Amino acid sequence: MKLKFYFSVASIITLAACGSSETPQVLVSEAFEEPPVGIATAATNAANASVATRLPLDNQTDFDNASRGFLAKIEDDAIRSATGDIVWDIRQFDFLTGDAPATVNPSLWRQAKLAALHGLFEVTDGIWQVRGYDLAVMTVIQGDTGWIIVDPLTTVETAAASLQLVNDTLGTRPVSGVIYTHSHVDHFGGARGVINEEEIAARGVPVIAPTGFADHAIAENVLAGNHMSRRAILMFGSSIPRNETAHVSSGLGPGIPRGSISLVLPTEEVREGTRVIDGVTFEFIDAAGTEAPSEFMFYLPEKRALCTAEVASGTFHNVLTPRGAKVRDALSWSRVIDSVLADYGDRSDVVFASHHWPTWGQENVRAYLTGQRDIYRYVHDQTLRQANAGATMTEAAEMLAEPTFSTDMFSTRGYYGTLNHNTKAVYQFYFGWWSGNPAEYHALPSEITAARYVDAMGGAESVLALGIEAFEKGDYRWAAELLNHLVFADADNEMARQWLASSYEQLGFQAESGAWRSYYLVAASELRNGILDGINPQLSNPEFVRAVPTMDLFNAMASRFNPEKMKRDPYIINFVFTDTDEEIAVHVSSDVIVPRAGGDDDASASVRMSRETFDSILLGTANVPALTLSGKLAISGDALAVRAFLQSLDQPEFWFPIVTP
Ligand SMILES: [Zn+2]
Repeated sequence: MKLKFYFSVASIITLAACGSSETPQVLVSEAFEEPPVGIATAATNAANASVATRLPLDNQTDFDNASRGFLAKIEDDAIRSATGDIVWDIRQFDFLTGDAPATVNPSLWRQAKLAALHGLFEVTDGIWQVRGYDLAVMTVIQGDTGWIIVDPLTTVETAAASLQLVNDTLGTRPVSGVIYTHSHVDHFGGARGVINEEEIAARGVPVIAPTGFADHAIAENVLAGNHMSRRAILMFGSSIPRNETAHVSSGLGPGIPRGSISLVLPTEEVREGTRVIDGVTFEFIDAAGTEAPSEFMFYLPEKRALCTAEVASGTFHNVLTPRGAKVRDALSWSRVIDSVLADYGDRSDVVFASHHWPTWGQENVRAYLTGQRDIYRYVHDQTLRQANAGATMTEAAEMLAEPTFSTDMFSTRGYYGTLNHNTKAVYQFYFGWWSGNPAEYHALPSEITAARYVDAMGGAESVLALGIEAFEKGDYRWAAELLNHLVFADADNEMARQWLASSYEQLGFQAESGAWRSYYLVAASELRNGILDGINPQLSNPEFVRAVPTMDLFNAMASRFNPEKMKRDPYIINFVFTDTDEEIAVHVSSDVIVPRAGGDDDASASVRMSRETFDSILLGTANVPALTLSGKLAISGDALAVRAFLQSLDQPEFWFPIVTP
């Protein structure tokens, strides 16, 4: 960064009147001698100031609700693992005080402050929540004999510390029931911190989850986990600090804790209907296929309390999450909320969810549910209206105006999901990835187009100058487009990387969504510093692998099969599992491997082992030669065929590049 760029334009910024437009027009550009780092430009200052002007950010209702019923907080604040490592420390968010700095969208700043309010809170008689010690919140309901835990957080450590806080404050009681509202890990990963299989067996503790929970909780991580987890690093800002110029909040909760993730399988899966758990009546409400493929809400008639799980929370959620997942159905989502509004709106004195804080008072509950229903309905219907009139995905997203109710109903604002990317999600749900324009149907990959665009625009220096010019006008989206071509044409172009990083940074500083902000700011960090692979992702958790059906593991292996490594004629291997009495025949060819249940008489080789041994191979904690020597694994027939099969499986790189080629 020794080069300096001098532009003749004076550093004077004139802005269009704020208030009417979301994106202030910068009339005169601001010159920079080098790409700014960690400071808000005048254009970002103005954009964030206009948000503060437009929204009633000093409304205290959410702060009152998020503080209501406070009883106690964890003494030390820091939550540690068994080895003493800090897995969560809410004090990392102590910087969230006062007015928003210029480097943070003030609406996100407000949400971040709310999400960082922490402790044990009473929701209503017999219901409490522990908030601020994880991405999610844990709800505790008093049963006849003990605590019924709803959604035991992401990690064993944060769940155990939260239960300890409950016992210390309200009196020690056993856990008499566990409920997972849905199949996302921030709602079941900490289960072993509150219960284990021995207690479940000894005391008959019910662990209740929605229908399909086990399949979906596992499936999401098995086939596509590597890619999703890598992108989640960006989305949740896991590799950057927590401060005014980095991660401030995920919007859904403060952030993701470190620590160990567990999987305690449910004893019963429930779709809907009434159940009495430790003397408390639950009316379960099916919400499958909304925010999660497996999800329910519930109503507690004796408490006149409604739990909306993650179907309705304190933000506009993701119809398609930036980390990647299967797209969700916005219409179904809205309809499920509407049926809850119709059935329970007049019977609920309080509504609480698995993130954020409760809403009290029948009228407020109805308004909250109405807003949640309407925001998913709005994005669904308006996307289709635009698409049916001929809009492409990006055009529809650009055209969709903010609905009027979002101005003062903060729970419908995009602190996690955004109107922009949820519009694209609805488009994708109905039309797939293609705009319908044939030029985009069989487009060249970006590394090729990048180099050609750079040539077509007069070479690298010319594109860099154009990118800087766009930056200096505050047109960061266009700057990013131009400079991204330059980086993808030549990843070693240091100036391009630095200016692209600064463009992402300003976009992050302006973002209202915590997920967008973190994504942009991690991207900037990876451009400036390279990929910081200090975090050891927990991709292969033994508890998860153990719970995966054997056939699903073979399907996951098949998705790692590299045809270039298989130079043999087709053959079959039988895998025989001695402890589970399973047999799977794997048909291997030079292009695909196809597992099929049951053995095959024409197999060239047979591998006998326990499922536990198989798991240890997949987890990388044991290798085939050692297992063979110890007698835990026996191969009969063509041993070279088995070896060729195992060697044909790729080990995916977790820290693959995203913002560079
Ligand atoms: Zn969640």
